[in-house]
Amino acid sequence: MPAESTTIVNVGYRSTNFWLISAGRSRLLVDIGWPGSMGKMRSILKRMDVPLEEIRYALATHYHIDHAGLAQDFKQAGIPLLVIDVQTEAIPRMKTWIKPADNYTEIIAEGNVVISCAESRALLEASGIPGEVLHTPGHSPDSVSLLLDDGSVFTGDLTPPDRVGLEDPAVVSASWRLLWERGARRVYPGHGPPWPLDQILGEL
Ligand SMILES: [Zn+2]
Repeated sequence: MPAESTTIVNVGYRSTNFWLISAGRSRLLVDIGWPGSMGKMRSILKRMDVPLEEIRYALATHYHIDHAGLAQDFKQAGIPLLVIDVQTEAIPRMKTWIKPADNYTEIIAEGNVVISCAESRALLEASGIPGEVLHTPGHSPDSVSLLLDDGSVFTGDLTPPDRVGLEDPAVVSASWRLLWERGARRVYPGHGPPWPLDQILGEL
């Protein structure tokens, strides 16, 4: 039987995209809400007819507050946090950006599923989602991208080359080139609408 095709839905709010990838009723959430907003997240998922327990894992592209703010809240609701080993150091630093009014639930290491990029394909395959996680630094050292075998890639805040500011442009370019070489074609960013990766090839 051929693998069920994957669908991609944006469940984001407040200018950040949170991408829900589904293979039938097996789902993966890429980027995990703003701090203190679990009620809003729950109501969006409910409106889209997505029971929380169908989400196999939540994965943050990187540990900034608008991308991983609800990671611990999801864990408490029974959804494991998938952490790539290059991200572990960034997690405790997240709270330094948080204000008390944000109602952030601090992420603890206990219960996290920590894997390497090399282990990601087997784990995703077991959830019916063909693809892999790649380390794509540039916006931050802990940034990773989820690349599906159909060419869809979830890049978080990896900076387009023409918008590089404080980032190292060589690191940013190397990450985009890696994604292209591994088959990435359609970019699902952390902010704004999807765009075709070939539009930046001339700048890499
Ligand atoms: Zn960021």
